[in-house]
Amino acid sequence: MKNFEMNGQEMRTTPHTALIKATKRIITLIVLHCTATSPDTSVEAIRNYWRNTLKWKQPGYHYIVKKNGETVQLAPTERIVNGVKGHNAHAIHVAYIGGTKTDGHGRQTAADTRTQAQRAALRSLVERLHRSFPKALILGHRDLSPDLNHNGRIEPGERIKACPCFDAADEYRDLNALPKHA
Ligand SMILES: [Zn+2]
Repeated sequence: MKNFEMNGQEMRTTPHTALIKATKRIITLIVLHCTATSPDTSVEAIRNYWRNTLKWKQPGYHYIVKKNGETVQLAPTERIVNGVKGHNAHAIHVAYIGGTKTDGHGRQTAADTRTQAQRAALRSLVERLHRSFPKALILGHRDLSPDLNHNGRIEPGERIKACPCFDAADEYRDLNALPKHA
């Protein structure tokens, strides 16, 4: 019997989870996010925010990439997570920690704060996901949902509608087979 850690709780392979595994999700979207936090925020602080403040039972992303490029998987890709309401059933959600910086007036503003290590780790993760789900479109959260306030719940990435603060569809255009921007 295979056991694995998930959200601090042990999940066992039962007939129920075996059934979920047998019913593969159809993945049509690979969605990039920023956490809309300082790049130094810990994964644990982000998970605590989901659990304790938003009362979410599942994480907001399948993968999160730390400032040092370390990639942490928060949920198996078979599982649905809370990335973008209305787009979760067929999506895999990937985030990097960061997306905000403090401007000259002490205000938090949206910014692409990715380190070289994060860029490389995101690239390698997205390429790996693309090999598993070659038909899925790769794009950013902001490309999906410009009008984010309808669900009454705000995930960290939704506080800044620029999420993920870079043009993901363009950055991974070679995988999307999209034409280069003119
Ligand atoms: Zn987002």
